[in-house]
Amino acid sequence: MTKIPMKTPLVEMDGDEMTRVLWQIIKDELLLPFVDLETEYYDLGLKKRDETDDQITIEAANAALKYGVAVKCATITPNEARKAEYQLKQVWKSPNGTIRSIMDGTVFRKPIQVRGIDPNVTSWKKPITIARHAYGDVYRNVEMYIDRPGKAELVFTDAEGNERRKLIQEFRTPGVIQGTHNLDRSISSFARSCFNYALDAGEDLWFGAKDTISKSYDHRFKDLFAEIYENEFKERFEAAGISYFYTLIDDIVARVMKSEGGFIWACKNYDGDVMSDMLSSAFGSLAMMTSVLVNPEGKYEYEAAHGTVQKHYYRHLAGEETSTNSVATIFAWSGALRKRGQLDDIPELSAFADALEKAVIDTIESGKMTGDLARITTLEHPVQLSSRAFILAVRKKLEEALA
Ligand code: NAP
Ligand code: MG
Repeated sequence: MTKIPMKTPLVEMDGDEMTRVLWQIIKDELLLPFVDLETEYYDLGLKKRDETDDQITIEAANAALKYGVAVKCATITPNEARKAEYQLKQVWKSPNGTIRSIMDGTVFRKPIQVRGIDPNVTSWKKPITIARHAYGDVYRNVEMYIDRPGKAELVFTDAEGNERRKLIQEFRTPGVIQGTHNLDRSISSFARSCFNYALDAGEDLWFGAKDTISKSYDHRFKDLFAEIYENEFKERFEAAGISYFYTLIDDIVARVMKSEGGFIWACKNYDGDVMSDMLSSAFGSLAMMTSVLVNPEGKYEYEAAHGTVQKHYYRHLAGEETSTNSVATIFAWSGALRKRGQLDDIPELSAFADALEKAVIDTIESGKMTGDLARITTLEHPVQLSSRAFILAVRKKLEEALA
């Protein structure tokens, strides 16, 4: 078989722990035999990030901007425990946070639905796509522990040196403070990405924030969305028969639980982080959620929504057989290859991506799956496969389909 050629390299961002193990098996078994894979490789494993003082993450994000399509493995976001475990020079920032703030844009997360894995929420008939704003808020915060009595203020100094001040708190006992920001530019591009994505998908757009409590900050999000909708999208939405509506985030959460699905849910950065984990597990498994960062200039970064599956990795290191689900990581690769195929006009590459995704779904629907799905499937007599055996079963289906 001749391998499918590529024209532009994918930016490949390797990662950590169990997902790093899966990454290699996916490449060896599902990609390299079929595609003349060209990648520019960046090792975002924690060891390498520490060695390079995290410069590798910045280089990888810049490469994504240069080439336009990246695929990323899950990575450890270090904390104090990780600092000790890996003897880090410091507690480096979240690589996803760094990449998102360089690329800007919106993360769209959509569950992969298969027959036999039914959502926990019985009213959900169609997937719900989360659109997560990828810039600012608590992910770019500055924080301080206040260890003594004193006054904390919010101070803004303009270019002429004029100051605006607000009292945060008069501290009499120890406590904490935090400063966060966002930019009109970023919020507007978030809004436009969401409206465009809804038009592409032909689905309604819901947006929720907490403007009743956050009267300047969240209110700004609400106003910019409303303004951009009125001026740029309203007519096209009406023509497409879809709608946009805003309500409080807690009201949205209540409505989501009673909905049928089939819409886009725009979330501020933190809400999107939390709610996408809720949605993915309620749709079946954390490992069945795809994730793509779309920046305002149309650059893409594909990844799985879950983490590095640390507990499985420790079992893997102890020589035990794992049954870790590789589906979202495979879909990160297929998403990136399909996009590369579209941008570079290589229809065989996009068709290969479709075939790979179909092979994954057919494998699960034939009853072969990893433990997370085997535990919840409504299919009779599911066969639980190991991490490697599942990928090999997908390879078999893929070879049959391509033959
Ligand atoms: P996690 O890796 O998402 O795993 C949490 C649990 O969810 C697992 O223990 C497992 O449950 C289940 N799970 C997740 N993915 C699975 C898969 N592919 N197959 C089967 N089960 C899966 O989250 P975490 O343990 O909280 O975080 C581990 C590390 O990942 C952390 O260092 C965190 O910083 C990092 N992280 C990275 C990203 C990213 O790079 N995008 C996102 C989130 C977290 P059972 O143990 O019950 O089987
Ligand atoms: Mg999260």
